[in-house]
Amino acid sequence: YISIRNLHKYYGPFHALTGIDLDIAEGEVVCVVGPSGSGKSTLIRCINMLEPFSEDSEILVDGVRVKPGANLAKVRTEVGMVFQSFNLFPHLTVRENIMLAPRRVRRTRKSEASAEADRLLARVGLTDHADKYPSGLSGGQQQRVAIARALAMEPRALLFDEPTSALDPEMVGEVLDVMRDLARSGVTMIVVTHEMGFARQVADRVIFMDGGAVVESGDPADIFAAPKEARTRDFLQAVL
Ligand code: ATP
Ligand code: MG
Repeated sequence: YISIRNLHKYYGPFHALTGIDLDIAEGEVVCVVGPSGSGKSTLIRCINMLEPFSEDSEILVDGVRVKPGANLAKVRTEVGMVFQSFNLFPHLTVRENIMLAPRRVRRTRKSEASAEADRLLARVGLTDHADKYPSGLSGGQQQRVAIARALAMEPRALLFDEPTSALDPEMVGEVLDVMRDLARSGVTMIVVTHEMGFARQVADRVIFMDGGAVVESGDPADIFAAPKEARTRDFLQAVL
């Protein structure tokens, strides 16, 4: 469903992605792990067109080539993103945050968008918080709202960039539980994470990146039990 060929990304002279090839099937859950600066965020930001990339690189989403400028709105509708910092609008209530994109982009009727927002809030376990403002919620609750907001556009794939890294430890579990439910429901997911337990349990595939390249990828059971590459081994030894 998402197909990446020969992806190169430069920040000025710095070669941040050095030719990534990756295919992600519909419904697949892929966790991306690796040391700081290895290019994990850059990779998923390229998929969602938050970063331009080299012209000879190719990213296809559902067979359509991602091309900066041309089809930004369509790609962002199909591929949602959840960030480490929840990025909710502080002046809008929880329900209004979720309604915003469907109303603006899809021109969904207010009553319909509101009903859909409530349905999504139930899905992430926040039914009673619809009329609060983000500042009245815990970090874990805010991140669950951010997930509901991403789902409101009915994306076919969701990208997560360290969705639990900014949370207090006691709130990590509630967000991972929501993500686990999503994974089970068949949403295509690419998750950059340091939560190795989540990767091990939920991922269909784990990708280890280092130095802007995919060093190793495979079934989580294999990668965690018997990494083939020394760099993967060293990384896992340091984080597990
Ligand atoms: P982390 O685990 O710390 O989030 P990461 O694997 O997500 O790291 P990236 O943020 O993708 O790494 O960064 C990859 C490399 O590109 C790093 O060396 C980083 O310094 C560099 N880089 C990222 N963004 C920019 C930018 N806007 N300008 C210049 N260099 C950048
Ligand atoms: Mg990052």
